[in-house]
Amino acid sequence: MLEIKNLHVKLEEEDKQILKGVNLTVEPGRVHAIMGPNGSGKSTLSYVLAGRDGYEVTEGSATLDGKDLLEMEPEERAAAGIFLAFQYPVEIPGVGNMTFLRTAVNAQRKARGQKELSAADFLKLVREKAKTLKIDADMLKRPVNVGFSGGEKKRNEILQMAMLEPRMCILDETDSGLDVDAMKLVAEGVNALRSPDRGFLVITHYQRLLDHIQPDVVHIMADGRIVKTGGPELALEVEHNGYADILAEVQ
Ligand code: ADP
Ligand code: MG
Ligand code: MG
Repeated sequence: MLEIKNLHVKLEEEDKQILKGVNLTVEPGRVHAIMGPNGSGKSTLSYVLAGRDGYEVTEGSATLDGKDLLEMEPEERAAAGIFLAFQYPVEIPGVGNMTFLRTAVNAQRKARGQKELSAADFLKLVREKAKTLKIDADMLKRPVNVGFSGGEKKRNEILQMAMLEPRMCILDETDSGLDVDAMKLVAEGVNALRSPDRGFLVITHYQRLLDHIQPDVVHIMADGRIVKTGGPELALEVEHNGYADILAEVQ
């Protein structure tokens, strides 16, 4: 489904190579986690997949269902099914959360050649999804993210994800601390979205999120490459021993 081959990426502004040959395949229905020390290139990988400006691919490829992602505009990637969570933590004063979601969902449907949801169908869908994420009606009516707590913003992101029904969900954990309850809600939201035709890339510096979102495969990224791949036990190894042992082993 998502297939990344020998991906090399540098910054557009300066001559700095960040990704140095990433190879990764995510199969439908599977949750892959990427862990790694700060600065190893995890966020860069997610940005490049989503199509953010400022990065230049110098070698390699990234495809989703055989389609070349790197040639697409960010909106086309979204329409193809890529969703990067925590991509839009921005506050949008004056735009109600519900209006924002409806615009996003209908733009997505249009790009996929589906017809727009009626106001009634949209309302039914958003209420149903919001309920499972414990997002109350008040939060749906408020301007997007304005005055939301960190946890509320993240739940709202998961709501966006649930509404857009992506094929490939990429979650780049922000460092802003989520308390345990907020993290559990986010994890529950993600787990509810697991399905046989959807893949996940869960990027995290710390292991704790993976207590709640059980990954099928765990990769360790260091200095722009995936240096080790294993099962969930690899995340526990990191939790107990840190990254030093693994990095020494693969040097
Ligand atoms: P991670 O998410 O694993 O912490 P990042 O992808 O954020 O790593 O960063 C990888 C490396 O690239 C770091 O050394 C970081 O400083 C650098 N980097 C990424 N984006 C930029 C940028 N826009 N300008 C300067 N340096 C950057
Ligand atoms: Mg970082
Ligand atoms: Mg990061």
